[in-house]
Amino acid sequence: MAEVVRGRSARLRKVSGLLAGRFGRPEICIHETDPVRNLVVTILSQNTTDANRDRAYDCLAKRFPTLPALAAARPSDLEEAIRVGGLAKAKAKAILGALARIREDRGGYSLAFLRGMPLSEAREYLTSFPGVGVKTANILLLFSFGMPAFPVDTHVLRVTKRLGLVPGTSTLSKAALSLEPHVGTGDHGPLHLNLIRLGREVCRPRNPLCAECPLLTVCPEGKRSTKAPATGGSGGAAAGGGRSEVKRSRAGSPHGEPRTESPSEAAQPKGKGCIA
Ligand code: SF4
Repeated sequence: MAEVVRGRSARLRKVSGLLAGRFGRPEICIHETDPVRNLVVTILSQNTTDANRDRAYDCLAKRFPTLPALAAARPSDLEEAIRVGGLAKAKAKAILGALARIREDRGGYSLAFLRGMPLSEAREYLTSFPGVGVKTANILLLFSFGMPAFPVDTHVLRVTKRLGLVPGTSTLSKAALSLEPHVGTGDHGPLHLNLIRLGREVCRPRNPLCAECPLLTVCPEGKRSTKAPATGGSGGAAAGGGRSEVKRSRAGSPHGEPRTESPSEAAQPKGKGCIA
């Protein structure tokens, strides 16, 4: 697999440029307000739709308007408030656990101290919370603090596997940590957002639209699938090749495909460009 991922920095630069040519360069708005609330939103975004995440957050905010009130909530009451977002028990536990740890460590509900930490230490601190993984931590570090963290969700994982930028067996965490140092300065946010957009609109889990993809010239999977003979009634070579790859990709990932979710959007409730 070593040869597959060789030259990652240059390939990522190329990918980023091609995506920017198709989609533009999305602006990343680094918000200054309340990373703790953003951590709560990001936990709520796990394995659900953007709409249900927002509904869950609205219910939570209405019932527990302040962080001390939220931290003091009974787990069953919090579960009830966020039930619409799914996985309520696990998410309530993660939220309450994170708030308790922050309070214990800092004497209040602030994560501002992370701003002065090296990225790896800040990530290590956040992932020491139960229920907070690399993806959630990276979303927070990128969108709340402007750190060069690279969140990888299932869309980014699928696309980068097909591009041969990470091994087919990579997990979300492994892919994030292995890609991150190779992403160009200032490119972590725009590349993350554009890969998600590509994954949703073009490099879909099933029947990727390789012939229309801006990355076809640099994608081994796309080149294979567009060269493969059509098998009849399948929508063409790209569709056939895409399906075979999808099987391999799923086999290599313990996470499967999402109902829908994007890390960045998880951190951007209400469809705004920034975390509120
Ligand atoms: Fe995905 Fe096909 Fe584009 Fe490769 S060429 S990134 S497989 S859509």
